[in-house]
Amino acid sequence: FSSKLPDVGTSIFSVMTQLAQDHGAINLAQGFPDFDPPQNLTDALVRHAGAAGQQQYAPMPGLLRLRELISQKTAALYHVPAPDPATNITITSGATEGLYAVLAATVRPGDEVLVLEPAYDLYGPAIRLQGGTPVYVPLCLPSFRPDWDQVAARLTPRTRLVLLNTPHNPSGAVLTTQDFDTLAGLLENTDTLVLSDEVYEHLVFDGQAHRSVLQHPALAARAFVLSSFGKTYHATGWKVGYCIAPALLTAEVRRVHQFLTFSVSTPTQHALADVLADADHYRELPAFYQQKRDLFAELLRGTGFELLPAAGAYFLLARYAALAPQEPDTEFAQRLTREAGVAVVPVSAFYHDGRDEGLIRFCFAKRSETLQEAALRLHAFS
Ligand code: PMP
Ligand code: GLN
Repeated sequence: FSSKLPDVGTSIFSVMTQLAQDHGAINLAQGFPDFDPPQNLTDALVRHAGAAGQQQYAPMPGLLRLRELISQKTAALYHVPAPDPATNITITSGATEGLYAVLAATVRPGDEVLVLEPAYDLYGPAIRLQGGTPVYVPLCLPSFRPDWDQVAARLTPRTRLVLLNTPHNPSGAVLTTQDFDTLAGLLENTDTLVLSDEVYEHLVFDGQAHRSVLQHPALAARAFVLSSFGKTYHATGWKVGYCIAPALLTAEVRRVHQFLTFSVSTPTQHALADVLADADHYRELPAFYQQKRDLFAELLRGTGFELLPAAGAYFLLARYAALAPQEPDTEFAQRLTREAGVAVVPVSAFYHDGRDEGLIRFCFAKRSETLQEAALRLHAFS
């Protein structure tokens, strides 16, 4: 049998989580919180999991009540016209399924998809499975800002999509209104669509606001915007996300979604709908996570890890050159897991060609005790 993805191994997140378990290491590798979702949300799930009449298929695009609440939330948060629950919003099985459904619905063999690197690991393989070609443009280090001239140079009549991710995994960099203006200028008079992965929309720090593609009318008219309840509610295991897009694009996503999963877990959607109207939860997230970012950065002072600034998401990148000047990042990440008892992700895993910038990624979505223990171990290692 000849594989369709012969060069693709097991996702780095699975690999590093397994290694962490094998060595009893603190897992700062895979991005997930080590604390639980809000109690009112888990209580709601228990309630709905036991409720008569709520255990069968949800409607294919998602529970209407949940889509209505997402519509209201989006309008209030981003000061945009409310997306129509009937024609603009689709509930997906995590942002992962949303990404895949959008790519499957839009990319034809021979199409190109522009991807800014480092990039989340599913983008490239999912594009290639559609017969598309990912066209990679490196972000500029150490700011991880796009070089729009390079983007412009790589756009062709075959560019089906430009893929954005803000706040960015793994760097935390955020895109600005000016970035969107520039991109909109480049895409004017083209058929190129935009896929904007905004799963970390609520995790933007230092008083900055997340800028959503939804707020840019010219881009929003050609964009699929993805979010994830996993990030917003500390519930990555629930696997519920959503896609907002114009009606014509939503119709295409649903053509695929209906055959990919058909619909998403019914009681889970009910539970999320019960808490979504409470804006306090997500308005408190920036301060909640910023405190963790700043605590971890403070705790790492005096180690050989040089942290890069992170404007958003729940990751910090670090240079380890002072500790292991020549060591490839993959080897260093594995050695850190084994010898220090702290698992991290090597940033080369986010480059299609394994480009090694000598960087590792820490996930700081952890309880203070976890971050403190990890820091003790990293000091001992340094
Ligand atoms: N996009 C990015 C940038 C992510 O970091 C993640 C989660 N790790 C996803 C998509 C997938 O989100 P979900 O867990 O909702 O499928
Ligand atoms: N998004 C998470 C990360 O970047 C992991 C998701 C996954 O394990 N697939 O670490």
